[in-house]
Parts: sequence; structure tokens; C-alpha cells
Amino acid sequence: MIQIETTPAFRDFMLNKRFRGQVRNLATSLITALRINPHGRELVSVCGQGGEADNCEAIFSWVKHEACCASCIKVLDFKALQRRFVRFLLENTNQKEYHE
Ligand SMILES: [Zn+2]
Repeated sequence: MIQIETTPAFRDFMLNKRFRGQVRNLATSLITALRINPHGRELVSVCGQGGEADNCEAIFSWVKHEACCASCIKVLDFKALQRRFVRFLLENTNQKEYHE
């Protein structure tokens, strides 16, 4: 009998679950650091695919795209990610200034 924990599908599932958790943490940190209203919707069309429910989901989507995959997220520096996000917002919104 195969142990379910050792099947490739289960390993992928766990890796993906951990990846999503890490993305979630980074997104929350960005929201806190930049004092973004997580329940607003103004960043949905900017950061998300357009179907996200709120800024929180939209930023999750942006971070997930930036982080790429489970191995890339390991070497991702939060400060660098934050700078990239601020630059992205400045280029894509009318906002003139964000807390860095
Ligand atoms: Zn990657």
C-alpha cells in the first residue's frame, strides 16, 4: 500500500498549499506596510485580473504572479517586493505617493 503522503500529487498539493500561505503573508504585509484598505476595490482593476472581490484578493493575485513559484518565493526579499509594488502602483494609478 502506498502512503498518501509520499505520492507526487500529495507533495504538489502540500507545496502549493505552503506557497499560497506564503503569498498570503506577503500580501498582508504589503497591505499593512502601505496602509491599503483591504476591503476597498480601487486596486482590483490595477493589480488583479478584474474578478477579485477586494484589494486584498487583488494584491494576493499580484504577489502570486511576482513570486512565481515555491522555489522563487524562498529567495524573495520583502523590502524589494515592497519597492517593486510601490513602483507598480505609481506607474499604474494616479496616486502620487505611497509609504515606503
Ligand atoms: Zn519560480
